[in-house]
Amino acid sequence: MAWRLWPVRKSSLHSRLRTQVAVGILACVVSAGVLEVAAAESKVQPAKHWLVRPQQTEPKIREWAARYPQLVSLETQKTFGGRTAYAVTVTNRKREDAGKRKLLVTQPHAHEPATTAGMMDFLAQLLDGADLSGRPSSLDRNRILDLTVLTFIPDGNPDGRAKAPADWWDGAGFSNEAFLDLVFGKEKDGQRSKRVGRWSTQQRQPAVIGFAYEQINGHEYVEPNRDLDSTYFKLIRRMRSRYSYDLHLDLHQTEFEKSPYNAMILLPFIEKELPQPIQDRNVAWGKAIIAAWQRAGGHPIPDLKPLGYGEDQIRYFRKCWSDLYRSTPCLGVEIQNNNPRTPPLVQMRLIEASIRASVEFLLAEEK
Ligand SMILES: [Zn+2]
Repeated sequence: MAWRLWPVRKSSLHSRLRTQVAVGILACVVSAGVLEVAAAESKVQPAKHWLVRPQQTEPKIREWAARYPQLVSLETQKTFGGRTAYAVTVTNRKREDAGKRKLLVTQPHAHEPATTAGMMDFLAQLLDGADLSGRPSSLDRNRILDLTVLTFIPDGNPDGRAKAPADWWDGAGFSNEAFLDLVFGKEKDGQRSKRVGRWSTQQRQPAVIGFAYEQINGHEYVEPNRDLDSTYFKLIRRMRSRYSYDLHLDLHQTEFEKSPYNAMILLPFIEKELPQPIQDRNVAWGKAIIAAWQRAGGHPIPDLKPLGYGEDQIRYFRKCWSDLYRSTPCLGVEIQNNNPRTPPLVQMRLIEASIRASVEFLLAEEK
């Protein structure tokens, strides 16, 4: 397939990371904050805490469902490529769902792996009581399991993720231009393919098919959060018809090129048209996440901004998201990707902080 024209750089990244073991790391781990610890660990070996490929996430999700049948339930969606996308719902099923606070956490993009890693690590903390590195979790697990229903879609495009040329994006192996050429593909003239919600090989045959796209039939590809026929939207719509979620958190990563920041909250593009109570909750919840990032040592943009795309991209969001935005508070999160300022495990911890802050926001509303 066309994307195989690009070299797989993972092994060189691994070996380089192994050579960067710093003598002072243990001292840092004792005294530093969460993000400094994560930054130090990133220099050693992110992989052992980093479950992002379908062959890594699927066995772990299955293991949790088998080990904790009273806590975990799964919904699945087969992809055209033959893989399975999961919606993992966690709650204490011995207690009635009625009255529980409900949160849906999703991610659509194969090139944003820290969103998956962050959800998997949060699930490990909630279910096993320890993160994926074995460190005990400070989560108030029983309270969360008794009072909330939490659904996670850790990988909305497993076919795309399986094709990703690297396990994480740390800014060392690829410039942002080279990275985005792989993400969205290249035409035969060498230009990056135009970003569209859906396209067909009957209309054009790119030299490189971007791995952000999901193939949905013999000739069509979609960007998962811009087309309702994606596996991601099929699972979201199924879960939203099953549970009346109080909040929907959609996790992303972006490059923050020429920006001093590494995290931001995106309000719905139609924020000002939404019912006032939804606007107010979006803002209060977004501020709670920003405060959590600041406490953790992140560098979030302090203001909440609506999604800033032009009409060429907004038209897809209008079609796919307008009804969802009008019925449920919904925020987008962006964490820096492919930049040495935010190493992989720091990306993961910032994602986790946004999930934890959302759960705490729900529980605070409970009082
Ligand atoms: Zn994204």
